[in-house]
Amino acid sequence: MNGVIQVLSPHLANQIAAGEVIERPASVVKELIENSLDAGATRIQVRVEQGGVKRIEVADDGCGIPKEQLALALARHATSKITTFDDLVHVRDFGFRGEALPSIASVSELTLTSRTAEDSAGWCLRIVHGGDVEGPRPSALAHHGSVIGVRNLFSNLPARRKFLKAARTEFGHVRQLLHRAALARFDVAWVLEHDAREVLHFPAATGEEAQRSRLAKILGKAFAEHCVYFDNATDGLGLSGWIGAPTISRSQPDMQFSYVNGRSVRDKTLGHALRQAYQDVLIHGRHPCCVLYLKVDPEMVDVNVHPAKHEVRFRHQGMVHDFVRATLQRTIAALAPGDTPNLAEYHRTLVNENPQAAAQPSPRMPHPGYTRQKVGHGASTALYGRIAERPPPSAPAPTAPVARVGTAVPAPPLGYALCQIHGVYIVAQNEHGMVLVDMHAAHERVTYERLKRAHQEHDVRVQPLLVPVAVEASEHEADACEERAGDLERLGFGVDRSGPGTLIVRRVPSLLADADAAQLLRDVLSDLCEHDASSRIEENVNAILSSMACHGSVRANRALSLDEMNALLRDIEKTERSGQCNHGRPTWAQLGMEQLDKLFKRGQ
Ligand code: ADP
Ligand code: MG
Repeated sequence: MNGVIQVLSPHLANQIAAGEVIERPASVVKELIENSLDAGATRIQVRVEQGGVKRIEVADDGCGIPKEQLALALARHATSKITTFDDLVHVRDFGFRGEALPSIASVSELTLTSRTAEDSAGWCLRIVHGGDVEGPRPSALAHHGSVIGVRNLFSNLPARRKFLKAARTEFGHVRQLLHRAALARFDVAWVLEHDAREVLHFPAATGEEAQRSRLAKILGKAFAEHCVYFDNATDGLGLSGWIGAPTISRSQPDMQFSYVNGRSVRDKTLGHALRQAYQDVLIHGRHPCCVLYLKVDPEMVDVNVHPAKHEVRFRHQGMVHDFVRATLQRTIAALAPGDTPNLAEYHRTLVNENPQAAAQPSPRMPHPGYTRQKVGHGASTALYGRIAERPPPSAPAPTAPVARVGTAVPAPPLGYALCQIHGVYIVAQNEHGMVLVDMHAAHERVTYERLKRAHQEHDVRVQPLLVPVAVEASEHEADACEERAGDLERLGFGVDRSGPGTLIVRRVPSLLADADAAQLLRDVLSDLCEHDASSRIEENVNAILSSMACHGSVRANRALSLDEMNALLRDIEKTERSGQCNHGRPTWAQLGMEQLDKLFKRGQ
């Protein structure tokens, strides 16, 4: 340092800004498509060569830029999107810093071609490494919109170019970025080409079917088939999206897309709430697949905390966290594996239309609506006839449907048990075909949910500690503990403060009497400080209930009577989260008649 203060040249300032925002080709693409979206584009075409290192081109059909403003678009801090600080708070556009184009131009060879609806032709500017602007020159553009070309990224900054990865890796980032954008804007058509080969083509997707098809292309077919759509809103907060069944979880969190007010963000609060929501149905180390759209009153969220706007800051972080967790938990609770019998729906009809039916075990009867008997096919008729006549080995022949006027109880989704195989699986028949149930896994979930409910309903049992445990914490943590003492008390945790950073645990939930109270409290406090919310105690209690359920449930190799099997089927139907056992494995599976027919090549 020579002690002389100097103002940075605009050129250097742009390069420094580029250092914050432009890390790799994908970051250029991100800025360019955000500009296209801000310009109202309905179709965005991205072409890259060598992973974008050699060339990037983004073409849109947006409003375009008038000839006399072209040069301004490349000037630092020039933006058409905000003029006052108040605008900044309410900004709905992606851009507002007016830095992207000049930053990109300072580290590449950039061409900007644009045409507005009023103009009869387009105009083009060129700028190399942030030097003098060349143009505008007339340029052919068939319709209104803009085409931005970026060549040889970082060619003037060898030190930064060295950090770029192989073309394949850089292209992977570009594709991932387009996936994120395409899930944010179903109404926009997207095309991505790599080295003149079309890699992605998403037509605008307005209907539900078209949206599912886009989901399938991005998150895979399994997700599209095993996800549910949900939508929940309270004042000032809304969460909607698709979440995947726990059975299609992944070893990496690579299929999680989250948006805050339309912006793709990686937010710790959201991530934590998501993990907690699935904690009960996923084995440790597995990650759910989901697409989440959070809507927050713009006054309640700051989007201007990160140069590339990857992060946001919430004013009421704890409230957002709890809202997200509760919404997701409720959605997961109603998830059934497979898409056929919709247990949640069934349960609702039972409760709404026939309050007793939900509580009473239903009488055994074959489903009256089952008419898919395809007996009578050429040579096999006789064989089928014989099998059909023979009563099942252990079961009495099902009795005829009982006609009960006025009380149309819907057929139970999981049907009626027929037999047990190898003491492990229950075979049942329902409207759609065959149902297979893993009886231990299913019973375990049913018991677990029952234990949890009992634990919550009969106020948590509390045990005073004979020797209170002193815990050293930071002052900040001790403050948080004092503030949330009421919440902790409700969970069965009695904590007093005895010094600036000393806490005394006096009571714990009975179920956790043997747990390490100090460790648990420390974990709870770090959650409270980090996320303004904690479900540690609940999680620990749940872990214990879960293991009690596991040990207390029917083990394999126990013979069940048909009545016991049917009782279990009815319990599964009534139980939340019954599609998965406590370890995230499926508890039952449906084999539809179509699948069975296919297996035996019937009707082909
Ligand atoms: P910001 O997006 O923060 O305003 P940029 O440097 O990304 O800053 O863009 C500067 C200005 O150029 C924008 O405010 C907008 O007016 C104009 N602009 C950039 N890209 C496009 C585009 N694809 N279509 C229309 N106008 C554009
Ligand atoms: Mg921009």
